[in-house]
Amino acid sequence: MNVRDSDAVAAMLVAAGYQQAVRENDADLVIVNSCSVRGKAEDKAIGKLGLLCAGKRKRPDRKIGLMGCMAQRIGEDIFKKLPLLDFSVGTRRCGAIPQMVRRVLKGETNICEISAAEAFPDVPDTHNETGHSAFVTILLGCNRRCAYCIVPDVRGPEYSRPAHEILAEISTLASHGIREVTLLGQSVMNYGKMNDVWHSDDPYGTNGYKEPFTRLLEAVASVPGINRIRFTSGHPSGCTDELVHAMRSLPQICNHLHLPFQSGSDRVLKMMRRGYSRADYLDAVKRLRSAMPDFSLTTDVIVGFPGETDAEFEETRSLMEIAAFDNAFIFKYSPRPGTPAAEMIDDVNDAEKMRRNQILLADQDIRGQKLNQALVGTVQEVLVDGPSLRNSERWSGRTPGNKIAVFTPVKGVEPGSIAEVRIKRVAPQTLYGEIRGVLGSNLIIEYSD
Ligand code: SAH
Ligand code: SF4
Repeated sequence: MNVRDSDAVAAMLVAAGYQQAVRENDADLVIVNSCSVRGKAEDKAIGKLGLLCAGKRKRPDRKIGLMGCMAQRIGEDIFKKLPLLDFSVGTRRCGAIPQMVRRVLKGETNICEISAAEAFPDVPDTHNETGHSAFVTILLGCNRRCAYCIVPDVRGPEYSRPAHEILAEISTLASHGIREVTLLGQSVMNYGKMNDVWHSDDPYGTNGYKEPFTRLLEAVASVPGINRIRFTSGHPSGCTDELVHAMRSLPQICNHLHLPFQSGSDRVLKMMRRGYSRADYLDAVKRLRSAMPDFSLTTDVIVGFPGETDAEFEETRSLMEIAAFDNAFIFKYSPRPGTPAAEMIDDVNDAEKMRRNQILLADQDIRGQKLNQALVGTVQEVLVDGPSLRNSERWSGRTPGNKIAVFTPVKGVEPGSIAEVRIKRVAPQTLYGEIRGVLGSNLIIEYSD
């Protein structure tokens, strides 16, 4: 979500006549987009801003700004910590940035804009992507209030964008060569539950879907040029029969879901106020898997929530084995000021959180390797990104299951191509293969084996 917001702000500033620097050092204006979800993320942003502000001794004209969740959380007090910071702008106020930059360039400093919870949000629809994939925010904020989570405080209440706005944005993206969109929301399947998103005269798709989110998926799938649709993050309660049906029957929807589970223990899930049980979660997984045979599942999990016992941690471990996650983001619990969990005693010490974290990482490595091993010999459709970060002689892209595939480029394959890659070997998070052909082209590569 922050990547998306940063991109929208870059596009707004470019539209206002500024030029995007290639390297940070070349920039006369640096804006740090911050995350508040864990203490460590905030510490990193403060550290970075401290360095940037200290750099003003040598470059007094360089302007420094802060945006995002930490700006929203801390408000004006940020200038007590960072007196040389020029501006700070909270969530849902991205649209104010070009005007704030103008004021700062005229000599104002320490200006702050944060949004009131009830204020109507700015929904930036500008894009700066150069590739073939784009994020599209469909739902802002969150109403769930999981006990550990700061997001509802900093990103405000849930608000779903009108469907026609989203579809117009995606059509424009498609006309600029975007082939893949990822629809974003904290609880993305809640789309259209809190406010109306469809007008009464909007047409129904051919499937007659009734739920606002499935209707949107069907409409996005009908945008010419959009080959792949992803969405994140999911919640088990949103995995309805209608959604499962849409995922199975609309070929543009990738066979992948990011479905955070957070804990495998019913007691901890209740303390977390997640709104589902272990059985509910596993039931959603079962329904998704039985509808889509090559379905890929990723997740988020928290270790060391207040009071989490060793036995409860083992339940998390076993859930991960049963659900057979393709990948997992594992977080050590971090108390966030003002959340209900911050009132509980953070009694799992850091060494123990680290131990649990390491165990889950090691389990996931073995599981990832095993699951990927089963893909050796298969041909995967890879949306090509271009040269891989580690080795520019090799290119990489993503499979529909959102796995990174690495291959040697051949003539006729370009960033944005959908290449057919035959998988030869695998690592826990990466597939390695060779190109067999490119969809929509005559290119067919013959290998002797
Ligand atoms: N809306 C998404 C999650 C957004 S936050 C959802 O509900 O699935 C991204 C992830 O950060 C969460 O899934 C959770 O695993 C982690 N997280 C959130 N708050 C945290 C905290 N206080 N400490 C540690 N991890 C946290
Ligand atoms: Fe946070 Fe829960 Fe909302 Fe996700 S659903 S953003 S974890 S409150």
